[in-house]
Amino acid sequence: MVLEKSSLLTLQKALDRLEESFKDLPAYNPTIEVEKVEAVLSTVAERMKDNFPYPHPLYAGQMLKPPHPIARLAYTLSLWINPNNHALDGGRASTLMEKEVVAEIAKMFGWSTALGHLCGGGTMANLESLWIAGQSSPGKKIVASEQAHYTHNRICGVLALPFQSVESDKFGRMDIRSLKRLLDEGDVGTVVVTIGTTATGSVDPLSEILKLQSQYNFRIHADAAYGGYFTLTDNLRPETTIEYSLLKEVDSIVIDPHKHGLQPYGCGCVLFRDPSVGRFYKHDSPYTYFTSSEIHLGEISLECSRPGSAAVALWATQQLLPLEKGGEFAKSLSRCREAAKKLFEKVSNDGRFLTAFAPELDILIWAVKAESVSRSSLLAKEIFVQASKEGLHLATADLPIKFFVENFPDMIYDQQRITCFRSCLLKPEHLDWIDHIWQTLDKVTRLTLTK
Ligand SMILES: *Cc1c(COP(=O)(O)O)cnc(C)c1O
Repeated sequence: MVLEKSSLLTLQKALDRLEESFKDLPAYNPTIEVEKVEAVLSTVAERMKDNFPYPHPLYAGQMLKPPHPIARLAYTLSLWINPNNHALDGGRASTLMEKEVVAEIAKMFGWSTALGHLCGGGTMANLESLWIAGQSSPGKKIVASEQAHYTHNRICGVLALPFQSVESDKFGRMDIRSLKRLLDEGDVGTVVVTIGTTATGSVDPLSEILKLQSQYNFRIHADAAYGGYFTLTDNLRPETTIEYSLLKEVDSIVIDPHKHGLQPYGCGCVLFRDPSVGRFYKHDSPYTYFTSSEIHLGEISLECSRPGSAAVALWATQQLLPLEKGGEFAKSLSRCREAAKKLFEKVSNDGRFLTAFAPELDILIWAVKAESVSRSSLLAKEIFVQASKEGLHLATADLPIKFFVENFPDMIYDQQRITCFRSCLLKPEHLDWIDHIWQTLDKVTRLTLTK
């Protein structure tokens, strides 16, 4: 059984409990035509069969991770109320839950007085951070590495802020000398530091960037949408651990609970170290704030209506799996990283493959050895297709050849980008499946290369 269903019974019990809150109201019994609903729902199930098997450990491709059952259940339970976390009037309990989870996430990074809230995802969260960056230093440049998420450039377009990209080094991290050159040119207001790039899981050298900050004056925004939770783990490279320990020095942080935080999509989080940036959000909405002088989340977020259910789901998850070093959640992340290291071992010891650099978090990239980059790219695409026929779902990515050149100078570098494999090992169960994944990869590679 791939889909966990045993927990569904708990939902019925919790709904009965929730129902008690209406017991003083006059009877009101909504009815529905269950047969019709059942028929449509069955069609939905049929339609949803057309997907890759995301919840299965043999899905080791894109950055996808199934939500925890508690998140699914709490989200669904709260939908009978359907709270809106824009204002206390729309979602009293879920607003408080949001404030609690956001404070816990801030604490994870070492912040006790941060201002923050949940939002639709990493893109929205980065948009708010860069908007505040633009408000704090109007007209100044935002810079991010060429390996930063592609939306930073686009967000700056939306916000009409000047954007410039900084070269990355052969490890996929921001190149410090290139950054320094840009800083010397002047007019840089904010440096976006990616803590775990989406393509390769590389961590930008925050320690070096902080040193530059004391010399040049700029804001630092950390985009930790994917990598943020790794701050809880105990098996990163010592150098990477240091970068994480410095996150508390930055001005804003973005983290995506819907990536490594076991949440359904629609859950990003933005945090500001200085709570006084709340002043930039100030607005007067005539109709939403009636009942309380407490701060409404709508007063400190760009979006208006937001799903309170996202906060409820995250609250339930953090109750079950607190954000603690050495805790169960932290250990599950360490296993993801172990899985990436284990697969890296196997791939880098195999003469048919070419690795770039050891995985910094739990994303691994590798290429096929061939006489030229174009041939290698072709083979990767072919192996990718064959693997999926065998039930192994990897992903490919087009990445700069500089990641590979040094490890294999003998290839003819006939194009600037190489199609290679990119495996996001975001499920702790991947660790138990690496042997299986490797056997399948080995088999389809043998068949493809001897064709
Ligand atoms: C995924 C990701 C984003 C975008 O987040 P969404 O939740 O997909 O909108 C931004 N930055 C990084 C580093 C990411 O990995």
